[in-house]
Amino acid sequence: MAHDYIIVGAGSAGCALAAGLIARTDATVLLLEAGPMDRDPRVRIPAAVSDLWFGKLDWAYETTAQQGFGGRIDTWPRGKVIGGSSSINNMMYVRGMDVDYDGWAAGGATGWDAATMNDLFHHLEDDERGPAPHRGIGGPLRVERQRGPSPLSQAFLDACEELGVPRVEDYHADTDGCGLTMVTQRGGRRWSAADAFLRPAMVAGDGRLTVRTGVDVQRVIVEGGRAVGVDVIVDGTPRFARASQEVLLSAGAVGTPHLLLRSGIGAAEHLASVGVPVVADLPGVGDNLQDHVLTGVAAGTDGDDSLYGADKDPAALLQYLTKKRGPLTSNLGEAIGFVRTRDDDAPDIELICVPVGMQDHGRVRYPEHGVSVGAILLRPDSRGSIRLASADPAVPPIVDPGTFTDGDDLRRLCDGLRWCQRLVLDTTSLGGRVTHLIDPTAPLITDQDVTDHVRRTAQTLYHPVGTCRMGSDPDAVVDPDLRVRGIDGLRVADASVMPTLIRGHTNAPAIAIGEQAARLVAAPAHV
Ligand SMILES: Cc1cc2nc3c(=O)[nH]c(=O)nc-3n(C[C@H](O)[C@H](O)[C@H](O)COP(=O)(O)OP(=O)(O)OC[C@H]3O[C@@H](n4cnc5c(N)ncnc54)[C@H](O)[C@@H]3O)c2cc1C
Repeated sequence: MAHDYIIVGAGSAGCALAAGLIARTDATVLLLEAGPMDRDPRVRIPAAVSDLWFGKLDWAYETTAQQGFGGRIDTWPRGKVIGGSSSINNMMYVRGMDVDYDGWAAGGATGWDAATMNDLFHHLEDDERGPAPHRGIGGPLRVERQRGPSPLSQAFLDACEELGVPRVEDYHADTDGCGLTMVTQRGGRRWSAADAFLRPAMVAGDGRLTVRTGVDVQRVIVEGGRAVGVDVIVDGTPRFARASQEVLLSAGAVGTPHLLLRSGIGAAEHLASVGVPVVADLPGVGDNLQDHVLTGVAAGTDGDDSLYGADKDPAALLQYLTKKRGPLTSNLGEAIGFVRTRDDDAPDIELICVPVGMQDHGRVRYPEHGVSVGAILLRPDSRGSIRLASADPAVPPIVDPGTFTDGDDLRRLCDGLRWCQRLVLDTTSLGGRVTHLIDPTAPLITDQDVTDHVRRTAQTLYHPVGTCRMGSDPDAVVDPDLRVRGIDGLRVADASVMPTLIRGHTNAPAIAIGEQAARLVAAPAHV
């Protein structure tokens, strides 16, 4: 049976898009998701987050060897489950700054300015703290205070203040400052895009929204210049799903360009090199990859109030199960601060406190109480790419983040790392609680020490964007209405359309893109 709309990918954007179409149209919608339902109990328990990575709910892409990382390969978790990456992410709710969204609009993403994005956030949010100019209430996306932040996160904030970073009441209202992270949770449980949008839409849709899990979309099928449906594999059998109106791609910043390229939509030369027949020569597909990079310092602490051991502590489990409180409600990234290492118009580094000693996506957890203080490069100049390794959809794409290949990126992150070291060593609030350094094992003194540490330890902060860039220029992949250039009936709505990274975390704008896509599809003349 044909549906009016087919959405590929039930992630942050895809869930919001599906709900928006159900609410704003009478159409039938088929939502296809490669992963399973989100029944794994660890999806709900916030502190179990890193246990979800690299397992069966994760695409777990590997990057190419990065020269900027001294030749290391990084692993990129991406959610492969209903809710997509919002079901395996750290739940940090950080909208991004006005300057970034106004930059999108000024760069050709007409209509995606800060005023519009803030209106979207306002409409989507249900902030526990109540209404304020930078907060929405009554929307589907629950945003709450943390229910059991570690005293170490408070110590981190005090340490930031010692170094001149002001504590702000709401980091969405002030660009420079620090505070406890707001989280996408409801009553101490993860509140994913599936919880916020998809489940209510399935009820509201009254049969108009069909969700299929375990369906890996192979290709978009284009006939006479128009997308008419998708080829899928269901239980090992190839099938075709037809869309009478539009095909909407929400497969994420890696998944969407991978899908477009294997459908023959991309740079003709690249497609020919892997034997994919060219449907549309669209050179920007898979280009412009940007990601936030994280490095930091891990240190041992006095006392027993870090998260170390919480996952094996029966009392913590009981507290979580009975009251949804305590250390298992932690999202790990409990406190943040925004600082400038240059005389710029906005912060270039985000500081982050995780109240446990860990490295390498949590695959290394130090067996003692401790803290990790990290620095995130907010606006990298470096650009990477997604390319096909093979025409076979089962073969993962080539993910090359191009880390530290351009501009001042490495030096800025080195300066961010110096901030981490000062917080951990030179402050009384946090430094006074540090018993010893774990990684690095001794203070980093010279520029070479700092650079070597960054190259050895840096990793993704899980925010790839930009690979189907939105814009008004001929090289943009989608126009500001999210339509793929040169093909009718095909749009992209996910993190891949963001022209540049934001100074924030990417779940909020991905969801806003899904919502705005629904408005554009439903009533283009009125948006
Ligand atoms: C480990 C991790 C931690 C993060 N922490 C935070 C955080 O704390 N705060 C924050 O704001 N952001 C965070 N992010 C980033 C944020 O979650 C993402 O930017 C956002 O979820 C991206 O939304 P999306 O809709 O573009 O893609 P996704 O949510 O990744 O959704 C894409 C969906 O498409 C599906 N899909 C892909 N290909 C196919 C196919 N061929 N067929 C069918 N389905 C397909 C995928 O399985 C997935 O469900 C984190 C991300 C990760 C991975």
